[in-house]
Amino acid sequence: MSANALTDLSDADLTDIVTGLGGKPFQARQVSHWLWKHGISDFEQMRNVPQALRTALAAKFSPHSTALHKAELAADGTEKLLLKLHDNDNVECVIIPDGERTTLCISTQVGCPVGCVFCASGMFGVRRNLSAGEIVEQVLIARARLPEGRRLTNLVVMGMGEPMLNLDGLLPALQRIHDPDGINLGARRITVSTSGYPKQMERFAEADPSYNLAVSLHAADDELRKELVPTVTSSVAEIVAAADSYFAKKNREVTFEVVLLAGKNDRRIDANNMIGLLRDLPCTVNLIPWNPVDEIVQEHGLGRPSEARVDAFAALLRGGGINVTVRRQRGADRSAACGQLRLQEL
Ligand code: SAH
Ligand code: SF4
Repeated sequence: MSANALTDLSDADLTDIVTGLGGKPFQARQVSHWLWKHGISDFEQMRNVPQALRTALAAKFSPHSTALHKAELAADGTEKLLLKLHDNDNVECVIIPDGERTTLCISTQVGCPVGCVFCASGMFGVRRNLSAGEIVEQVLIARARLPEGRRLTNLVVMGMGEPMLNLDGLLPALQRIHDPDGINLGARRITVSTSGYPKQMERFAEADPSYNLAVSLHAADDELRKELVPTVTSSVAEIVAAADSYFAKKNREVTFEVVLLAGKNDRRIDANNMIGLLRDLPCTVNLIPWNPVDEIVQEHGLGRPSEARVDAFAALLRGGGINVTVRRQRGADRSAACGQLRLQEL
């Protein structure tokens, strides 16, 4: 497949191209409808578009640039998709059904430059950013796999990559996902997770409309955080201030994510530091017991805390007045944390 995908074009660009090929603006809207509403990846299926225009478009573009490469279904219904990009690299997205809800987790980069010590996505650095079209195509591909009667209800940008380091791809992609003429998913059902880039978080806050923000905090003191997230240069205080200002601007409560690692950041002192840091902030802390990655267990000796330890940590935070949720394990029998399926492929 070529990189010249319609999914990367803005509506204005598509209209220019269609009229440049002798078509009418309303025909650009028809093409757009096939692309976003029907998820059509073949010009020949765009039945109400004149054959001459279809042929002319097909000479220069393909509707999509990404294809499904592999799908792995876990016992709990979570389905992990490995997608092949036009340059043969891979990214992952995960479909997570949960009662009436269906959440899709998508990626923003091939690999990740941040290099958190516990994460499979960052093990080999970053290869490149995904384009806006490549980000939205994950939604199109996942949507097409849903059984009759199921629709996507939530989107989390928590797959491979650091979203704040690819805002040029992410923001137009989210706009398209949110757009009633695009995927039509409400902004309040969209959550973007970041490892902490205050300047970019500010730019993200300026973008309309109000998406949810999750900040991967992991530790409340700078020394420990630096050990876990070695490349982020902003201090914990700066990151929390940026989260606070997101709340002030958008009136959306911020979620802090804490990946719990046995004996590393799940101690009483870690809970106390976190209480001191977050006590006065309207927020929720989401505790995520670490999903072990074999290569990382061997290299860094990290471990997943026991359930009792996770519960104890949660109780300490709650005792300090913090709202806490604990993430249930999903897709545990299938390389659950994002980045692990691609890791196998590499
Ligand atoms: N780069 C962004 C978004 C992608 S990671 C960020 O770091 O926030 C999404 C979440 O998954 C983050 O909170 C991250 O800390 C967590 N995560 C990464 N690897 C994990 C693993 N092996 N087990 C559990 N959570 C993990
Ligand atoms: Fe990148 Fe997020 Fe993984 Fe850290 S946790 S390496 S920021 S994807």
